[in-house]
Amino acid sequence: MPKTVTLGNGLAIGGDGFVVMAGPCAVESREQLLAAAHAVAAAGALVLRGGAFKPRTSPDSFQGLGGPGLELLAEAARLTGLPVVTEVIDPRDVPLVAAHASMLQVGSRNMQNFPLLREVGRQRLPVLLKRGAAATLAELLHAAEYVRREGNGEVILCERGVRGFDPTTRYVLDLAAVPALRQRTDLPIVVDPSHGTGDADLVPAMARAALAAGADGLLIEVHAAPEQALCDGRQALRPAAFATLMADLRRLAAALGRHWLRAESRAGSIPTPRHGVAANGCLDDEVIAP
Ligand code: PEP
Ligand code: MN
Repeated sequence: MPKTVTLGNGLAIGGDGFVVMAGPCAVESREQLLAAAHAVAAAGALVLRGGAFKPRTSPDSFQGLGGPGLELLAEAARLTGLPVVTEVIDPRDVPLVAAHASMLQVGSRNMQNFPLLREVGRQRLPVLLKRGAAATLAELLHAAEYVRREGNGEVILCERGVRGFDPTTRYVLDLAAVPALRQRTDLPIVVDPSHGTGDADLVPAMARAALAAGADGLLIEVHAAPEQALCDGRQALRPAAFATLMADLRRLAAALGRHWLRAESRAGSIPTPRHGVAANGCLDDEVIAP
Protein backbone atom coordinates (compact mmCIF):
# COMPACT_ATOMS: atom_id res chain seq x y z
CA MET A 1 0.00 0.00 0.00
CA PRO A 2 1.70 3.27 -1.08
CA LYS A 3 2.13 5.82 1.63
CA THR A 4 0.75 9.32 1.30
CA VAL A 5 2.48 12.31 2.85
CA THR A 6 0.01 14.97 3.95
CA LEU A 7 0.91 18.64 4.24
CA GLY A 8 -0.53 20.90 6.91
CA ASN A 9 -3.30 22.11 4.61
CA GLY A 10 -4.52 18.58 3.96
CA LEU A 11 -2.88 18.09 0.57
CA ALA A 12 -1.91 14.43 0.27
CA ILE A 13 1.07 13.53 -1.91
CA GLY A 14 1.31 9.93 -3.09
CA GLY A 15 -1.32 7.32 -3.90
CA ASP A 16 -3.03 7.86 -7.24
CA GLY A 17 -2.93 11.67 -7.09
CA PHE A 18 -0.47 13.81 -9.01
CA VAL A 19 0.90 17.05 -7.57
CA VAL A 20 3.03 19.77 -9.14
CA MET A 21 5.30 21.88 -6.91
CA ALA A 22 6.70 24.94 -8.62
CA GLY A 23 8.34 28.29 -8.08
CA PRO A 24 11.67 30.00 -8.43
CA CYS A 25 14.99 28.39 -7.66
CA ALA A 26 15.75 31.12 -5.14
CA VAL A 27 13.77 33.81 -3.37
CA GLU A 28 15.35 36.97 -4.75
CA SER A 29 12.88 39.71 -3.82
CA ARG A 30 9.24 40.14 -2.80
CA GLU A 31 8.26 41.20 -6.31
CA GLN A 32 10.08 38.29 -7.96
CA LEU A 33 8.69 35.70 -5.55
CA LEU A 34 5.09 36.92 -5.72
CA ALA A 35 5.16 37.08 -9.52
CA ALA A 36 6.23 33.45 -9.69
CA ALA A 37 3.96 32.34 -6.84
CA HIS A 38 0.81 33.85 -8.36
CA ALA A 39 1.72 32.44 -11.78
CA VAL A 40 2.21 28.88 -10.57
CA ALA A 41 -0.92 29.02 -8.41
CA ALA A 42 -2.97 30.25 -11.36
CA ALA A 43 -1.65 27.40 -13.52
CA GLY A 44 -2.64 24.77 -10.96
CA ALA A 45 0.48 24.06 -8.94
CA LEU A 46 -0.44 23.02 -5.41
CA VAL A 47 2.87 23.64 -3.63
CA LEU A 48 5.16 26.67 -3.92
CA ARG A 49 8.90 26.03 -4.03
CA GLY A 50 11.69 28.56 -3.49
CA GLY A 51 15.02 28.61 -1.70
CA ALA A 52 15.92 31.11 1.01
CA PHE A 53 19.12 29.26 1.91
CA LYS A 54 20.91 28.27 -1.29
CA PRO A 55 23.66 25.65 -1.40
CA ARG A 56 25.83 27.26 -4.09
CA THR A 57 28.84 25.59 -5.64
CA SER A 58 30.81 28.84 -5.58
CA PRO A 59 31.01 30.99 -2.43
CA ASP A 60 30.85 34.01 -4.74
CA SER A 61 27.37 33.11 -5.99
CA PHE A 62 24.13 34.47 -4.50
CA GLN A 63 23.61 32.52 -1.28
CA GLY A 64 19.93 33.33 -0.79
CA LEU A 65 18.18 35.89 1.40
CA GLY A 66 18.13 33.66 4.47
CA GLY A 67 15.66 34.64 7.21
CA PRO A 68 14.06 37.52 5.26
CA GLY A 69 13.56 35.09 2.37
CA LEU A 70 11.66 32.76 4.70
CA GLU A 71 9.39 35.65 5.72
CA LEU A 72 8.68 36.32 2.05
CA LEU A 73 7.86 32.66 1.48
CA ALA A 74 5.43 32.70 4.41
CA GLU A 75 3.79 35.81 2.97
CA ALA A 76 3.55 34.19 -0.48
CA ALA A 77 1.94 31.16 1.15
CA ARG A 78 -0.67 33.37 2.80
CA LEU A 79 -1.40 35.32 -0.39
CA THR A 80 -1.66 32.32 -2.72
CA GLY A 81 -2.96 29.68 -0.31
CA LEU A 82 -0.11 27.39 -1.40
CA PRO A 83 1.98 25.50 1.13
CA VAL A 84 5.72 26.09 0.78
CA VAL A 85 8.63 23.70 0.40
CA THR A 86 12.03 25.26 1.01
CA GLU A 87 15.53 23.98 1.52
CA VAL A 88 17.40 23.83 4.79
CA ILE A 89 21.15 23.39 4.56
CA ASP A 90 22.31 23.80 8.15
CA PRO A 91 21.02 21.68 11.05
CA ARG A 92 21.03 24.81 13.24
CA ASP A 93 18.51 26.50 10.92
CA VAL A 94 16.00 23.64 10.96
CA PRO A 95 13.66 25.11 13.62
CA LEU A 96 13.65 28.51 11.88
CA VAL A 97 12.91 27.03 8.46
CA ALA A 98 10.31 24.69 9.95
CA ALA A 99 8.50 27.68 11.45
CA HIS A 100 8.01 29.23 8.01
CA ALA A 101 7.38 26.26 5.71
CA SER A 102 5.05 23.31 5.19
CA MET A 103 7.78 20.96 4.00
CA LEU A 104 11.55 20.87 4.50
CA GLN A 105 13.77 20.23 1.49
CA VAL A 106 17.07 18.43 1.92
CA GLY A 107 19.02 19.11 -1.26
CA SER A 108 21.16 16.77 -3.29
CA ARG A 109 24.37 18.18 -1.83
CA ASN A 110 23.15 17.28 1.64
CA MET A 111 21.61 13.90 0.99
CA GLN A 112 24.23 12.31 3.19
CA ASN A 113 24.55 15.10 5.73
CA PHE A 114 23.61 12.83 8.58
CA PRO A 115 23.28 15.47 11.33
CA LEU A 116 20.89 17.39 9.02
CA LEU A 117 18.91 14.24 8.23
CA ARG A 118 18.57 13.49 11.94
CA GLU A 119 17.50 17.05 12.72
CA VAL A 120 14.76 17.14 10.07
CA GLY A 121 13.78 13.71 11.37
CA ARG A 122 12.99 15.30 14.72
CA GLN A 123 10.52 17.77 13.17
CA ARG A 124 6.84 17.28 12.62
CA LEU A 125 6.97 18.47 9.03
CA PRO A 126 7.24 16.42 5.84
CA VAL A 127 10.68 16.19 4.25
CA LEU A 128 11.47 16.35 0.53
CA LEU A 129 14.70 14.39 0.17
CA LYS A 130 16.59 14.91 -3.09
CA ARG A 131 18.88 12.26 -4.51
CA GLY A 132 22.58 13.11 -4.42
CA ALA A 133 24.09 13.69 -7.86
CA ALA A 134 26.32 10.65 -7.38
CA ALA A 135 24.15 8.63 -5.03
CA THR A 136 22.76 5.20 -5.73
CA LEU A 137 19.12 4.50 -5.05
CA ALA A 138 20.17 2.33 -2.11
CA GLU A 139 22.01 5.30 -0.63
CA LEU A 140 18.94 7.50 -1.15
CA LEU A 141 16.81 4.97 0.70
CA HIS A 142 19.34 4.75 3.54
CA ALA A 143 19.26 8.55 3.80
CA ALA A 144 15.45 8.44 4.05
CA GLU A 145 15.83 5.87 6.81
CA TYR A 146 17.95 8.32 8.84
CA VAL A 147 14.97 10.70 8.82
CA ARG A 148 12.47 7.97 9.66
CA ARG A 149 14.55 6.58 12.54
CA GLU A 150 14.17 9.90 14.36
CA GLY A 151 10.40 9.53 14.25
CA ASN A 152 9.50 11.45 11.10
CA GLY A 153 8.09 9.02 8.55
CA GLU A 154 6.78 11.77 6.28
CA VAL A 155 9.44 11.59 3.58
CA ILE A 156 9.07 12.21 -0.16
CA LEU A 157 11.90 11.07 -2.43
CA CYS A 158 13.00 13.25 -5.34
CA GLU A 159 14.90 12.13 -8.42
CA ARG A 160 16.78 15.13 -9.80
CA GLY A 161 19.42 13.67 -12.07
CA VAL A 162 22.83 12.15 -11.56
CA ARG A 163 26.23 13.13 -12.83
CA GLY A 164 26.97 11.92 -16.35
CA PHE A 165 29.76 12.41 -18.88
CA ASP A 166 27.87 14.44 -21.48
CA PRO A 167 27.58 18.18 -20.83
CA THR A 168 24.58 18.48 -23.19
CA THR A 169 22.32 18.21 -20.16
CA ARG A 170 23.22 19.45 -16.69
CA TYR A 171 22.62 16.03 -15.15
CA VAL A 172 21.22 12.74 -16.43
CA LEU A 173 17.62 12.51 -15.27
CA ASP A 174 17.22 8.90 -14.17
CA LEU A 175 13.57 8.20 -14.84
CA ALA A 176 14.10 4.48 -14.31
CA ALA A 177 14.58 5.50 -10.68
CA VAL A 178 10.82 5.99 -10.43
CA PRO A 179 9.72 2.37 -11.05
CA ALA A 180 12.92 1.05 -9.44
CA LEU A 181 12.25 2.98 -6.22
CA ARG A 182 8.60 1.93 -6.39
CA GLN A 183 9.71 -1.70 -6.09
CA ARG A 184 11.74 -0.89 -3.00
CA THR A 185 9.75 1.64 -0.98
CA ASP A 186 6.25 2.82 -0.19
CA LEU A 187 7.38 6.45 0.00
CA PRO A 188 6.04 8.97 -2.56
CA ILE A 189 8.43 9.71 -5.43
CA VAL A 190 8.63 13.01 -7.29
CA VAL A 191 10.85 14.12 -10.16
CA ASP A 192 12.69 17.41 -10.72
CA PRO A 193 13.15 17.87 -14.47
CA SER A 194 14.56 21.38 -14.00
CA HIS A 195 17.83 20.38 -12.32
CA GLY A 196 17.71 17.07 -14.17
CA THR A 197 18.11 18.79 -17.55
CA GLY A 198 19.34 22.31 -16.75
CA ASP A 199 17.50 23.55 -19.84
CA ALA A 200 14.00 25.07 -19.86
CA ASP A 201 13.42 23.76 -23.39
CA LEU A 202 13.89 20.18 -22.21
CA VAL A 203 11.81 20.43 -19.04
CA PRO A 204 8.31 19.86 -20.54
CA ALA A 205 9.21 16.58 -22.27
CA MET A 206 10.87 15.20 -19.16
CA ALA A 207 8.02 16.36 -16.95
CA ARG A 208 5.54 14.47 -19.13
CA ALA A 209 7.84 11.45 -19.14
CA ALA A 210 8.04 11.51 -15.34
CA LEU A 211 4.26 11.43 -15.08
CA ALA A 212 4.12 8.55 -17.56
CA ALA A 213 6.83 6.72 -15.57
CA GLY A 214 4.58 6.78 -12.53
CA ALA A 215 5.92 9.66 -10.47
CA ASP A 216 3.65 11.08 -7.76
CA GLY A 217 4.54 14.64 -8.66
CA LEU A 218 7.02 17.13 -10.04
CA LEU A 219 9.27 19.88 -8.73
CA ILE A 220 9.67 22.58 -11.39
CA GLU A 221 11.49 25.91 -11.43
CA VAL A 222 9.52 28.90 -12.72
CA HIS A 223 10.67 32.52 -13.00
CA ALA A 224 8.82 35.48 -14.52
CA ALA A 225 12.07 36.80 -16.03
CA PRO A 226 14.58 33.94 -16.25
CA GLU A 227 17.22 36.16 -17.88
CA GLN A 228 17.32 38.18 -14.67
CA ALA A 229 17.40 35.21 -12.29
CA LEU A 230 20.16 35.14 -9.70
CA CYS A 231 20.20 31.36 -9.79
CA ASP A 232 19.41 28.66 -12.37
CA GLY A 233 17.75 31.02 -14.86
CA ARG A 234 18.53 28.83 -17.84
CA GLN A 235 16.37 26.02 -16.56
CA ALA A 236 13.45 28.14 -15.34
CA LEU A 237 10.17 28.01 -17.25
CA ARG A 238 8.41 31.28 -17.96
CA PRO A 239 4.84 31.43 -16.61
CA ALA A 240 3.30 30.95 -20.07
CA ALA A 241 5.40 27.85 -20.78
CA PHE A 242 4.56 26.51 -17.33
CA ALA A 243 0.83 27.01 -17.93
CA THR A 244 1.07 25.18 -21.27
CA LEU A 245 2.92 22.32 -19.60
CA MET A 246 0.30 22.10 -16.85
CA ALA A 247 -2.48 21.82 -19.44
CA ASP A 248 -0.55 19.05 -21.22
CA LEU A 249 0.09 17.22 -17.95
CA ARG A 250 -3.57 17.40 -17.02
CA ARG A 251 -4.55 15.75 -20.31
CA LEU A 252 -1.83 13.14 -19.95
CA ALA A 253 -2.89 12.35 -16.39
CA ALA A 254 -6.44 11.75 -17.60
CA ALA A 255 -5.19 9.45 -20.37
CA LEU A 256 -3.15 7.49 -17.84
CA GLY A 257 -6.01 7.19 -15.39
CA ARG A 258 -4.17 9.27 -12.81
CA HIS A 259 -5.95 11.61 -10.46
CA TRP A 260 -4.99 15.23 -11.17
CA LEU A 261 -5.19 16.97 -7.79
CA ARG A 262 -6.81 20.39 -7.70
CA ALA A 263 -6.87 23.01 -5.00
CA GLU A 264 -10.26 21.79 -3.85
CA SER A 265 -8.90 18.27 -3.21
CA ARG A 266 -7.24 19.64 -0.08
CA ALA A 267 -8.92 18.99 3.23
CA GLY A 268 -8.14 22.44 4.61
CA SER A 269 -7.60 25.76 2.94
CA ILE A 270 -4.69 27.94 3.92
CA PRO A 271 -1.34 26.73 5.18
CA THR A 272 -0.43 28.36 8.44
CA PRO A 273 3.27 28.87 8.94
CA ARG A 274 3.89 29.17 12.65
CA HIS A 275 5.52 32.62 12.35
CA GLY A 276 3.27 34.96 11.45
CA VAL A 277 25.99 37.44 -8.12
CA ALA A 278 25.59 38.23 -11.29
CA ALA A 279 22.12 38.32 -12.68
CA ASN A 280 23.11 36.17 -15.59
CA GLY A 281 20.88 33.17 -15.13
CA CYS A 282 23.84 30.82 -15.12
CA LEU A 283 23.44 27.44 -13.53
CA ASP A 284 24.74 26.98 -10.04
CA ASP A 285 27.39 24.43 -10.83
CA GLU A 286 28.48 25.86 -14.15
CA VAL A 287 32.24 25.94 -14.13
CA ILE A 288 33.58 29.46 -14.24
CA ALA A 289 37.35 29.58 -14.44
CA PRO A 290 38.71 30.99 -11.19
C1 PEP B 1 16.95 23.22 -5.69
O1 PEP B 1 15.93 22.51 -5.70
O2 PEP B 1 16.92 24.47 -5.81
C2 PEP B 1 18.27 22.59 -5.61
C3 PEP B 1 19.34 23.27 -5.17
O3 PEP B 1 18.25 21.34 -6.06
P1 PEP B 1 19.35 20.18 -5.93
O4 PEP B 1 19.61 20.01 -4.48
O5 PEP B 1 18.66 19.02 -6.56
O6 PEP B 1 20.56 20.65 -6.70
MN1 MN C 1 17.78 25.54 -8.65
